[in-house]
Amino acid sequence: TSVPVITVDGPSGSGKGTVCRLLAEKLEWRLLDSGALYRLTALAASHHGVSIDDVEALVVLAAHLDVQFSTRDDGVQIVLEGEEVTQAIRNESIGNDASKIAAIGPVRQALLERQRAFAELPGLIADGRDMGTVVFPAATLKVYLDASVQERATRRYNQLINKGLDASLEVILEDLQERDTRDMNRSVAPLKPASDAMVLDSTSMSIEEVLSAVLEEVRHKG
Ligand code: C5P
Repeated sequence: TSVPVITVDGPSGSGKGTVCRLLAEKLEWRLLDSGALYRLTALAASHHGVSIDDVEALVVLAAHLDVQFSTRDDGVQIVLEGEEVTQAIRNESIGNDASKIAAIGPVRQALLERQRAFAELPGLIADGRDMGTVVFPAATLKVYLDASVQERATRRYNQLINKGLDASLEVILEDLQERDTRDMNRSVAPLKPASDAMVLDSTSMSIEEVLSAVLEEVRHKG
């Protein structure tokens, strides 16, 4: 039996992380946060003193990542080499390193089977940049979630401010633009909607509206 997969791709801050978490809860399916694997590779590199230009060492790290994902009430807990890194991988500089590492073809290749292994019954929600185009080309439903860069930067800014952290909208906007440009223009698995993706622009949609649009489409596909 083939496992049903819903892929959700899009740029950072499009809301896909939240939408995927809610979809997985609602359908009681597994969740793959593929961005976390690139972030974990970046963190492992930093822990082991591996430069993000050292392709061979990065491929070895990616292929042998010692990581456990476990589900908690407030989301997924991530343990790398015995150390809890759930928050540590969310760091901006790790995100930037992850996006640089993610442009290296052999690193992507090293993470491919690990991602596919997440597909288990009753189904999988796959969150990323190339879920519908490369990792799960035969997915049941492919969603591409977009939003204007202004809106995405504002959401990120508000998240940080609400956590009581310091933030600059201008810096966030620049970082997002730089990361998007890199993700969309790399030669391997660039960020783009799959030709058969349902494209949603969440700029003026709430999370609930996005969620019901996707669930509506799930019901159509029956
Ligand atoms: O989604 P998140 O911000 O955690 O992803 C971090 C980085 O990992 C992205 O900027 C992107 O470069 C890379 N990534 C990727 N392919 C994926 C998921 C993430 O290239 N499927």
